Amino acid sequence: MKPTTNVKQLLKSKAEGQPVTLMGWVRTNRGNKHVRFLAVNDGSCQASIQVVAETQGIDAELLKRATTGSCVGIQGVLVPSQGQGQAVEIKAQELRVLGDADPEEYPLQKKGHSMEFLREIAHLRPRTNTFGAIFRIRHALSFAIHKYFNDNGFCYVHTPIITGSDAEGAGAMFRVSTLDAAKPPMRPDGHVDFSQDFFGKETNLTVSGQLEAELAAMGLGLVYTFGPTFRAENSNTPRHLAEFWMIEPEMAFYDIHDNMDLAEDFLKYLVLYALENCADDLEFLGQMYDKELLDRLHFVVENPFRRITYTEAVEILLASGQKFEYPVAWGNDLQAEHERYLVEKHFQCPVTVTGYPKGIKAFYMKLNEDGRTVRAMDVLFPKIGEIIGGSQREEDLETLRGRVAEMGIPEKDMWWYLDTRRWGTCPHSGFGLGFERLVMFITGMANIRDVIPFPRTPKNAEF
Ligand code: ATP
Ligand code: MN
Repeated sequence: MKPTTNVKQLLKSKAEGQPVTLMGWVRTNRGNKHVRFLAVNDGSCQASIQVVAETQGIDAELLKRATTGSCVGIQGVLVPSQGQGQAVEIKAQELRVLGDADPEEYPLQKKGHSMEFLREIAHLRPRTNTFGAIFRIRHALSFAIHKYFNDNGFCYVHTPIITGSDAEGAGAMFRVSTLDAAKPPMRPDGHVDFSQDFFGKETNLTVSGQLEAELAAMGLGLVYTFGPTFRAENSNTPRHLAEFWMIEPEMAFYDIHDNMDLAEDFLKYLVLYALENCADDLEFLGQMYDKELLDRLHFVVENPFRRITYTEAVEILLASGQKFEYPVAWGNDLQAEHERYLVEKHFQCPVTVTGYPKGIKAFYMKLNEDGRTVRAMDVLFPKIGEIIGGSQREEDLETLRGRVAEMGIPEKDMWWYLDTRRWGTCPHSGFGLGFERLVMFITGMANIRDVIPFPRTPKNAEF
């Protein structure tokens, strides 16, 4: 027996007594000793379908085993529903229990488990309405990202996950090594001898595909990456993962304004895509967790983002009269509390901040004429804070070499990056969108651990 259809298709079909074979997991089993009503969900959509089984035709013992969480196969016919709440239902002619779920032991008995509890049973989360919705939305957004770039003439490039460069400076890294951790080979100076390691040098998991994406953009024009990135920071916050997915477009001939325009258009496209293609799942999440979710999504699509400079942001924060945990002063990085004040209290809309002090940003960002600020841009979102970080890149060889030296990065590690400025350099820009932060915003989830199937965070790599 193999399913001939799924619940999503069936709920859209005209019920004309046609034969169907469906498989899925029982959500509820109600009724009396003459007739049982099974709600069966197969993950194809938010809704379950009602299966009507009369104990005259279907073995009562089998029906008893079709408890919440069990897996069943049904052969029957699709008929107009007799009851309320659904247009169609399956009248069962044959039932198979493919997998029992002992009601004494199955952990997902009732509705309304806490998100914390569900994280502990992340292997079973996909069977809940909430995580079904989240993971379907996550899928739809992944598809939409590729569609957006493909439709706009971008080329998807695959940048390495194992990297030999640690110059990006976006965060602490995870080492990749095959050396014996208990007894690594040592150099006479007392340091580990990585020349004996797998790659003959120190290697790590990448924190960003940007530098390699830049190389590709200097030949292919418009490119993007979409892959996993890793940061070994010990930041146990609701917005940080040690393993997360990042989308990094890189565009030849774009300046910082083109970059901001693209970021805004891209984010609006993705939110609209979710509204148009994931309506049932968004409706469900809005009802269950956040009554303002849909309004917030529509607002982002319909309104322009505010654009301000870092210096203006600092002035607004200083004049706000708010007490912040982290002090506000020109030269300090903006913290999540500052970002959220700007977005949620002051402007009440998404904000793009440009012109950050060079001291708090990466070496590759293009220096402004003032010599103190760089053409960085961060897009700040309600409930999230920073969702995108990007910049125009420094394309001038001598200025870039100066910055590399200032930051104490050995030039010999960056020869390939500097080469792009040596030959045929051009103005270019790009940004990084944290995929899970986007999914958080669109699903309304408050914790990043709930928008990725198996989160990796400090002291947690179960499953
Ligand atoms: P933050 O200041 O929020 O820690 P960042 O400035 O270190 O972020 P970038 O290096 O600019 O982040 O990375 C680009 C984007 O990747 C960020 O705007 C954010 O959406 C996402 N991001 C960064 N770090 C993480 C993380 N640890 N977990 C999930 N997403 C992240
Ligand atoms: Mn950033």
